[in-house]
Amino acid sequence: MVFLVIAAAAFFATLLGGLFALVLRGRLHLILGFSAGAVVGVAFFDLLPEAIELGCGSFGQRFLPLFPGFGFLVYLLLDRIALSHGAAGNFAKGKNSRRGMLGAVSLVTHSIFDGIAIGLAFQVSAAIGVVVTAAVLTHDFSDGINTTNIVLKNGGSAKEAFRWLLADALAPVLGIGMTLFVHLPKAWFGLVIALFAGFFLYLGASELVPDSYNAYPKRLTTAGTILGAGLVLATTLAVR
Ligand SMILES: [Zn+2]
Repeated sequence: MVFLVIAAAAFFATLLGGLFALVLRGRLHLILGFSAGAVVGVAFFDLLPEAIELGCGSFGQRFLPLFPGFGFLVYLLLDRIALSHGAAGNFAKGKNSRRGMLGAVSLVTHSIFDGIAIGLAFQVSAAIGVVVTAAVLTHDFSDGINTTNIVLKNGGSAKEAFRWLLADALAPVLGIGMTLFVHLPKAWFGLVIALFAGFFLYLGASELVPDSYNAYPKRLTTAGTILGAGLVLATTLAVR
Protein backbone atom coordinates (compact mmCIF):
# COMPACT_ATOMS: atom_id res chain seq x y z
CA MET A 1 0.00 0.00 0.00
CA VAL A 2 2.79 2.44 0.98
CA PHE A 3 4.64 1.48 -2.21
CA LEU A 4 1.53 2.19 -4.29
CA VAL A 5 1.27 5.73 -2.90
CA ILE A 6 5.01 6.36 -3.40
CA ALA A 7 4.91 4.94 -6.92
CA ALA A 8 1.97 7.18 -7.81
CA ALA A 9 3.72 10.23 -6.32
CA ALA A 10 6.92 9.48 -8.28
CA PHE A 11 4.87 9.04 -11.47
CA PHE A 12 3.04 12.34 -11.12
CA ALA A 13 6.09 14.35 -9.96
CA THR A 14 8.02 13.24 -13.07
CA LEU A 15 5.05 13.80 -15.39
CA LEU A 16 4.43 17.27 -13.96
CA GLY A 17 8.06 18.30 -14.47
CA GLY A 18 8.04 17.12 -18.07
CA LEU A 19 4.68 18.77 -18.88
CA PHE A 20 6.01 21.99 -17.36
CA ALA A 21 8.96 21.83 -19.77
CA LEU A 22 6.66 21.00 -22.72
CA VAL A 23 4.29 23.89 -22.02
CA LEU A 24 7.18 26.33 -21.58
CA ARG A 25 9.16 25.07 -24.55
CA GLY A 26 8.97 28.53 -26.16
CA ARG A 27 11.33 29.51 -23.37
CA LEU A 28 13.51 26.45 -23.73
CA HIS A 29 16.67 28.47 -22.97
CA LEU A 30 15.58 29.15 -19.41
CA ILE A 31 14.68 25.53 -18.72
CA LEU A 32 17.74 24.24 -20.57
CA GLY A 33 20.04 26.26 -18.32
CA PHE A 34 18.21 24.99 -15.26
CA SER A 35 18.28 21.41 -16.55
CA ALA A 36 22.05 21.59 -17.11
CA GLY A 37 22.60 22.59 -13.49
CA ALA A 38 20.15 20.02 -12.18
CA VAL A 39 21.85 17.11 -14.01
CA VAL A 40 25.32 18.13 -12.79
CA GLY A 41 23.85 18.71 -9.32
CA VAL A 42 22.29 15.23 -9.21
CA ALA A 43 25.68 13.73 -10.16
CA PHE A 44 27.74 15.61 -7.56
CA PHE A 45 25.33 16.18 -4.70
CA ASP A 46 23.00 13.16 -4.85
CA LEU A 47 24.47 10.17 -6.71
CA LEU A 48 28.15 10.45 -5.69
CA PRO A 49 27.59 10.70 -1.92
CA GLU A 50 25.01 7.92 -2.10
CA ALA A 51 27.37 5.64 -4.06
CA ILE A 52 30.14 6.24 -1.52
CA GLU A 53 27.78 5.56 1.36
CA LEU A 54 26.50 2.29 -0.12
CA GLY A 55 29.63 0.91 -1.80
CA CYS A 56 32.80 2.08 -0.04
CA GLY A 57 32.38 -0.33 2.85
CA SER A 58 32.59 -3.37 0.56
CA PHE A 59 34.65 -2.12 -2.39
CA GLY A 60 37.02 0.29 -0.68
CA GLN A 61 37.84 3.94 -1.12
CA ARG A 62 40.30 3.30 -3.96
CA PHE A 63 38.04 1.16 -6.15
CA LEU A 64 34.58 2.72 -5.94
CA PRO A 65 35.57 6.27 -7.03
CA LEU A 66 36.84 4.78 -10.34
CA PHE A 67 33.28 4.02 -11.40
CA PRO A 68 32.08 7.57 -12.12
CA GLY A 69 35.11 7.76 -14.45
CA PHE A 70 34.09 4.51 -16.18
CA GLY A 71 30.53 5.81 -16.50
CA PHE A 72 31.76 9.07 -18.04
CA LEU A 73 33.87 7.25 -20.65
CA VAL A 74 31.17 4.68 -21.48
CA TYR A 75 28.68 7.48 -22.05
CA LEU A 76 31.23 9.36 -24.18
CA LEU A 77 31.70 6.28 -26.38
CA LEU A 78 27.95 5.74 -26.79
CA ASP A 79 27.46 9.44 -27.51
CA ARG A 80 30.17 9.46 -30.21
CA ILE A 81 28.65 6.36 -31.82
CA ALA A 82 25.24 8.06 -31.82
CA LEU A 83 26.80 11.19 -33.35
CA SER A 84 28.65 9.31 -36.08
CA HIS A 85 25.35 7.76 -37.22
CA GLY A 86 23.58 11.12 -37.45
CA ALA A 87 23.72 13.19 -40.63
CA ALA A 88 26.51 15.80 -40.48
CA GLY A 89 24.18 18.62 -41.56
CA ASN A 90 21.75 17.82 -38.81
CA PHE A 91 24.54 17.74 -36.25
CA ALA A 92 25.49 21.28 -37.23
CA LYS A 93 21.93 22.35 -36.46
CA GLY A 94 22.07 20.51 -33.16
CA LYS A 95 19.55 17.96 -34.40
CA ASN A 96 20.31 14.32 -33.83
CA SER A 97 17.47 12.08 -32.80
CA ARG A 98 19.81 9.18 -31.88
CA ARG A 99 21.61 11.48 -29.48
CA GLY A 100 18.28 12.54 -28.00
CA MET A 101 17.27 8.90 -27.67
CA LEU A 102 20.52 7.99 -25.92
CA GLY A 103 19.94 10.76 -23.39
CA ALA A 104 16.32 9.73 -22.88
CA VAL A 105 17.18 6.02 -22.49
CA SER A 106 19.85 6.95 -19.95
CA LEU A 107 17.43 9.10 -17.93
CA VAL A 108 14.70 6.44 -18.03
CA THR A 109 17.17 3.78 -16.87
CA HIS A 110 18.29 6.10 -14.08
CA SER A 111 14.65 6.52 -13.01
CA ILE A 112 14.24 2.73 -12.84
CA PHE A 113 17.18 2.76 -10.41
CA ASP A 114 15.51 5.60 -8.47
CA GLY A 115 12.60 3.21 -7.93
CA ILE A 116 14.93 0.34 -7.01
CA ALA A 117 16.66 2.68 -4.51
CA ILE A 118 13.33 3.29 -2.79
CA GLY A 119 12.48 -0.40 -2.59
CA LEU A 120 15.99 -1.35 -1.37
CA ALA A 121 15.98 1.39 1.26
CA PHE A 122 12.72 0.05 2.68
CA GLN A 123 14.31 -3.41 2.80
CA VAL A 124 16.98 -1.92 5.09
CA SER A 125 14.57 0.00 7.31
CA ALA A 126 11.43 2.15 7.17
CA ALA A 127 13.37 5.27 8.31
CA ILE A 128 15.97 4.96 5.52
CA GLY A 129 13.12 4.22 3.13
CA VAL A 130 11.46 7.54 3.95
CA VAL A 131 14.73 9.48 3.47
CA VAL A 132 15.47 7.92 0.08
CA THR A 133 11.86 8.38 -1.03
CA ALA A 134 12.02 12.08 -0.17
CA ALA A 135 15.30 12.41 -2.10
CA VAL A 136 13.86 10.70 -5.18
CA LEU A 137 10.50 12.48 -5.15
CA THR A 138 12.08 15.92 -4.87
CA HIS A 139 14.31 15.41 -7.90
CA ASP A 140 11.73 13.52 -9.97
CA PHE A 141 10.32 16.85 -11.10
CA SER A 142 13.68 17.78 -12.62
CA ASP A 143 14.08 14.24 -14.04
CA GLY A 144 10.87 14.91 -15.98
CA ILE A 145 12.12 18.31 -17.17
CA ASN A 146 15.45 16.80 -18.24
CA THR A 147 13.87 13.94 -20.19
CA THR A 148 11.60 16.28 -22.14
CA ASN A 149 14.46 18.70 -22.75
CA ILE A 150 16.99 16.21 -24.03
CA VAL A 151 14.51 15.00 -26.69
CA LEU A 152 13.38 18.51 -27.72
CA LYS A 153 16.94 19.86 -27.77
CA ASN A 154 18.04 17.17 -30.20
CA GLY A 155 15.24 18.00 -32.61
CA GLY A 156 12.57 15.58 -31.33
CA SER A 157 8.89 16.53 -31.63
CA ALA A 158 6.64 17.34 -28.69
CA LYS A 159 4.92 13.99 -29.24
CA GLU A 160 8.21 12.09 -28.99
CA ALA A 161 9.19 14.09 -25.94
CA PHE A 162 5.88 13.20 -24.29
CA ARG A 163 6.35 9.49 -25.03
CA TRP A 164 9.78 9.50 -23.39
CA LEU A 165 8.37 11.52 -20.50
CA LEU A 166 5.70 8.88 -19.97
CA ALA A 167 8.38 6.16 -19.98
CA ASP A 168 10.42 8.17 -17.46
CA ALA A 169 7.37 8.64 -15.22
CA LEU A 170 6.60 4.90 -15.30
CA ALA A 171 10.25 3.95 -14.67
CA PRO A 172 10.31 4.49 -10.86
CA VAL A 173 7.06 2.54 -10.60
CA LEU A 174 8.74 -0.34 -12.46
CA GLY A 175 11.84 -0.02 -10.26
CA ILE A 176 9.86 -0.20 -7.02
CA GLY A 177 7.95 -3.21 -8.38
CA MET A 178 11.21 -4.98 -9.26
CA THR A 179 12.46 -4.83 -5.66
CA LEU A 180 9.46 -6.87 -4.57
CA PHE A 181 10.98 -9.78 -6.52
CA VAL A 182 14.73 -9.11 -6.81
CA HIS A 183 17.18 -8.56 -3.98
CA LEU A 184 20.30 -6.74 -5.16
CA PRO A 185 23.14 -6.49 -2.61
CA LYS A 186 23.45 -2.92 -1.33
CA ALA A 187 27.17 -2.62 -2.16
CA TRP A 188 26.62 -3.58 -5.82
CA PHE A 189 23.90 -1.01 -5.98
CA GLY A 190 26.55 1.54 -4.90
CA LEU A 191 28.67 0.61 -7.93
CA VAL A 192 25.74 1.08 -10.30
CA ILE A 193 24.92 4.47 -8.80
CA ALA A 194 28.60 5.50 -9.14
CA LEU A 195 28.39 4.54 -12.83
CA PHE A 196 25.29 6.70 -13.22
CA ALA A 197 27.09 9.62 -11.57
CA GLY A 198 29.54 9.40 -14.51
CA PHE A 199 26.69 9.23 -17.06
CA PHE A 200 25.09 12.31 -15.53
CA LEU A 201 28.38 14.19 -15.42
CA TYR A 202 28.91 13.57 -19.11
CA LEU A 203 25.33 14.47 -20.02
CA GLY A 204 25.44 17.63 -17.91
CA ALA A 205 29.00 18.90 -18.28
CA SER A 206 29.71 17.94 -21.90
CA GLU A 207 26.28 18.40 -23.40
CA LEU A 208 23.75 20.45 -21.47
CA VAL A 209 26.04 23.04 -19.81
CA PRO A 210 27.92 24.14 -22.98
CA ASP A 211 24.90 23.71 -25.30
CA SER A 212 22.57 25.80 -23.17
CA TYR A 213 25.10 28.63 -23.04
CA ASN A 214 26.07 28.41 -26.71
CA ALA A 215 22.41 28.66 -27.67
CA TYR A 216 21.65 31.50 -25.25
CA PRO A 217 24.82 33.22 -23.97
CA LYS A 218 22.97 35.23 -21.39
CA ARG A 219 23.43 35.81 -17.69
CA LEU A 220 19.99 34.33 -17.17
CA THR A 221 21.18 30.98 -18.58
CA THR A 222 24.05 30.92 -16.08
CA ALA A 223 21.70 31.92 -13.27
CA GLY A 224 19.39 29.06 -14.29
CA THR A 225 22.26 26.55 -14.16
CA ILE A 226 23.38 27.68 -10.70
CA LEU A 227 19.74 27.60 -9.57
CA GLY A 228 19.26 24.05 -10.92
CA ALA A 229 22.35 22.71 -9.13
CA GLY A 230 21.54 24.74 -6.01
CA LEU A 231 18.01 23.36 -5.77
CA VAL A 232 19.28 19.77 -6.00
CA LEU A 233 21.88 20.53 -3.31
CA ALA A 234 19.28 22.13 -1.07
CA THR A 235 16.83 19.25 -1.38
CA THR A 236 19.60 16.70 -0.81
CA LEU A 237 20.74 18.49 2.35
CA ALA A 238 17.15 18.90 3.51
CA VAL A 239 16.23 15.22 3.28
CA ARG A 240 19.54 13.59 4.31
ZN1 LIG B 1 16.14 10.53 -10.62
